[in-house]
Amino acid sequence: MKIGFIGLGNMGAPMAANLVKEGHEVTGFDLAAPMPEGVSKADTAAAAAAGQDVVITMLPNGAILRAVADEVIPAMKPGAVLCDCSTVDVDSARAVADQAAAAGLGALDAPVSGGVGGATAGTLTFMVGGSADAFNTVKPLFDIMGQKAVHCGASGAGQAAKICNNMILGVTMIATCEAFALADKLGLDRQKMFDVVSTSSGYSWTMNAYCPAPGVGPQSPADNDYKPGFASELMLKDLRLSQQAAESADADTPMGQLAKALYEQFVENEGGKGMDFSAMLPRFEKRGHN
Ligand code: NAD
Repeated sequence: MKIGFIGLGNMGAPMAANLVKEGHEVTGFDLAAPMPEGVSKADTAAAAAAGQDVVITMLPNGAILRAVADEVIPAMKPGAVLCDCSTVDVDSARAVADQAAAAGLGALDAPVSGGVGGATAGTLTFMVGGSADAFNTVKPLFDIMGQKAVHCGASGAGQAAKICNNMILGVTMIATCEAFALADKLGLDRQKMFDVVSTSSGYSWTMNAYCPAPGVGPQSPADNDYKPGFASELMLKDLRLSQQAAESADADTPMGQLAKALYEQFVENEGGKGMDFSAMLPRFEKRGHN
């Protein structure tokens, strides 16, 4: 397949490299990042998109996606598919999909989970919104870049799944960390706390698979001085997107709102930037009841 790839940063570069390895012809454009081996460099986003069967974008946010879409949609050939893999707000995802449809193109929002490790290993999970036809066109590429692609529904459904999942993740991480900090103050051994909770009704992915307490549970960023992993500022980005969506859809999400406020405080005022999102535990450790 002929593929245009726009945004070859930490995630986009290894994703594009995996497509090249499987014999696809990839033309890339990025404002700053170098091209991975085997990707031909275009001088503009429009040039990277012209004549391609599929154009993939992997960009920082919705405003940048909208700007890039304005440029590439008129350059794409009729019937081609614009597939955005960035994490962006649901409204931007839907607006870009509408704009693509009006130009006779297919469009997918296909955010990922799995991080840079998953992008490099080709084991990402794609959550996809858009038509079945567009999904089926891009599916062979999802199968190269990832281990699973779930067609979640119409445009915006992929982003909706992503931010709902990550809202649960942020809230659960905070609950797990504050419970450890309380257990400490009650004199409960952390290993005993893990042994009980990981097999009781308080179990969760954050406790069982990504335990925020160093030396407890399977290996996690806590065992590596809280180096990310999944950085707190990226969790904050996703929590802000979920609150933006909650406001726009008139949904009541008090726990998500509180999680956003806590990560905001942690990232902006408490040194959490650049630390894994499980570093909420040492944050809680230092604090008292008020
Ligand atoms: P990144 O900052 O490393 O890469 C983004 C790239 O986009 C950069 O190379 C930048 O130069 C390029 N860019 C910015 N504006 C551009 C423009 N107008 N035209 C062309 N290129 C432009 O970010 P990343 O970590 O690769 O993340 C990309 C997306 O994936 C984000 O939406 C992020 O939320 C999402 N995501 C990241 C992770 C992760 O662990 N890093 C995990 C899941 C999802």
